[in-house]
Amino acid sequence: MSHEGIRFVSKKEQARESLEDRPLPRIAVTPDKVRVKLTEGTGLEIDWQDGHRSAWSFAWLRDACPCATCVDERKAQGRKTGQSKAKSAALLPMYTPPPKPASAHGVGRYAIQFNWLDGHSGGIYSWDYLRRHCQCPECTFESAESGCTPN
Ligand SMILES: [Zn+2]
Ligand SMILES: [Zn+2]
Repeated sequence: MSHEGIRFVSKKEQARESLEDRPLPRIAVTPDKVRVKLTEGTGLEIDWQDGHRSAWSFAWLRDACPCATCVDERKAQGRKTGQSKAKSAALLPMYTPPPKPASAHGVGRYAIQFNWLDGHSGGIYSWDYLRRHCQCPECTFESAESGCTPN
């Protein structure tokens, strides 16, 4: 993939994969401020050193858990990162509260880890992983078009 300006018009997924492998600039994956909205229960917000602001809901983060178990489960079910399980109301009639962490803490200088209320805590969310899955309208629009391209 060393060709400049190569385009996969009919192979979007492939193009996106090559973009996801591309290393990001350090300032794009170094948080300036990290806010975990535990009290509000809304989600995670990060201001990056390149000036970009990202936000993820806890529900998205739970369904994007990067631990091996969750990655395998998503693969087996054909779910994308952050995509929730299909609602199987018939099988599970009881109310399940939206995912929320009981606490969160930094892992070294490169990641954050959540202790989810459902008891799960195996996922280590690196800054790089989070930035590549930025859920702000700008990035989700760009990634739907041609892959996320942080400036
Ligand atoms: Zn997990
Ligand atoms: Zn973004």
